[in-house]
Amino acid sequence: MAMAEIYVYWISGNPLSISLFAIFGLLALIIYFSFRSGIPGGFATVTLTIIYYFYIIQSRNYTGDQLTNGIRTTLVLGLLYYFIAWIIGGLRQIIDNLIEREANEKRRLQAIVEQLPVGVIITDSEGLVTQTNSQLRNILGFDLPLGYRIEKEEPLHEPHSSPLFQALSTGKPVVSKEFTINRPDGKKITVLISSSPIQSLSGKTIAAASIISDVTAQREIEDRKNDFINMASHELKTPLTSLRLYIDSLSSRVKDFKDARAEKTLSSIKFQTERLQDLATGLLDVSRIQTGKLSLNKESFRLDELVKEIISDLQGSTRNQKLILSRSVGASVIADKFRISQVLTNLITNAAKYSPPGENITIEITKTGRYAQVSVSDKGIGINKSQHKKIFDRLYQVTDAKEKTFPGLGMGLYISKEIVKRHGGTIWVDSEKNQGSIFYFTLPLTK
Ligand code: ADP
Repeated sequence: MAMAEIYVYWISGNPLSISLFAIFGLLALIIYFSFRSGIPGGFATVTLTIIYYFYIIQSRNYTGDQLTNGIRTTLVLGLLYYFIAWIIGGLRQIIDNLIEREANEKRRLQAIVEQLPVGVIITDSEGLVTQTNSQLRNILGFDLPLGYRIEKEEPLHEPHSSPLFQALSTGKPVVSKEFTINRPDGKKITVLISSSPIQSLSGKTIAAASIISDVTAQREIEDRKNDFINMASHELKTPLTSLRLYIDSLSSRVKDFKDARAEKTLSSIKFQTERLQDLATGLLDVSRIQTGKLSLNKESFRLDELVKEIISDLQGSTRNQKLILSRSVGASVIADKFRISQVLTNLITNAAKYSPPGENITIEITKTGRYAQVSVSDKGIGINKSQHKKIFDRLYQVTDAKEKTFPGLGMGLYISKEIVKRHGGTIWVDSEKNQGSIFYFTLPLTK
């Protein structure tokens, strides 16, 4: 009312000027209502303001120029006010839409997280829990309340093993780390935890998402399978060893009869029995590796001398393929001689198996830094780059039409990789399809 009085005073005193106070005071009201209630609220305030101005003009009985100026100014101001209300109300609507869209997005994300068949923990950059799902509660057997500080809780708190902590500190995802958790109900479970950092547009790590899956059942099945393989290979080995002894004793007798056909048949039986023995030994080794029971009997020996021994042992059994030791340096290692022989035998027999008869196989022993390095190179069928890592996996075989024709179970390279790894060395391959292969492995030299 006071504002309206000032307005009237100014119009009557000087019809062309209008109180700044009246303009800005009413403008503030219009801005306030436009922002609070959007365009409808703003427009309603403007309309009321205009009606109010007209009421005052009418109640003061203006005439002539005073009346014309009053009406004109009110109309101009009214238009301006509508425009301002439209802009501010529109802005308010845009902000409302944005807020709603974000809320919908959040709800959608929550629904997805809730539906996931794995446990989910989303934390902020400090490790405070900001979101979980019901599957997490099912897995852990207790609730992880929002706002809970994860670092204090096993198995996620140890700075070096916690996937969450690692993802937050390095900004890189950590994939499938295995942990054993004791649930409050006394059950012991095995879980796989993966954590991914969530980064802002500027690249700062602002949160982390961890996924927890319960693999207890799979591990139990795997344990049972390993136990079975272990038992089966033991059971196979015993009769095979006896069979070998009988074959040997029979062989020496058959020699006396000078029966060439019988001798040939016996030598085939012996060969096949040896293959069976190799398979049983391979299976046993795989199950030992799986259950962490592959023990090493380390001793100090000259690797170059062992390589030479194995080359001369295998020289006769390759298909016309000459084994050539093209480079050799003296290299002492502390390792399990039997297991390292196994690696060498596997690489050399593979080189012979996967390359045509008559092609030479070249072996080299060198030193690189603190390591002895052995390479076995062939001119055979080669291996596609995409398979280079996989061939060292358990029971992995390349399944191209060409490879299918070679017998095997895909155990050799897996066992070799584990043996070399357990000695602190590395094993890898350099090869291209149809270009031959070079397999390398290293062992730490004796200090
Ligand atoms: P296996 O020879 O019994 O199949 P391995 O574990 O020794 O099992 O080898 C795994 C796979 O790697 C083989 O099936 C074969 O496809 C590939 N491979 C191994 N050595 C060679 C080689 N020298 N040349 C080409 N391919 C090879």
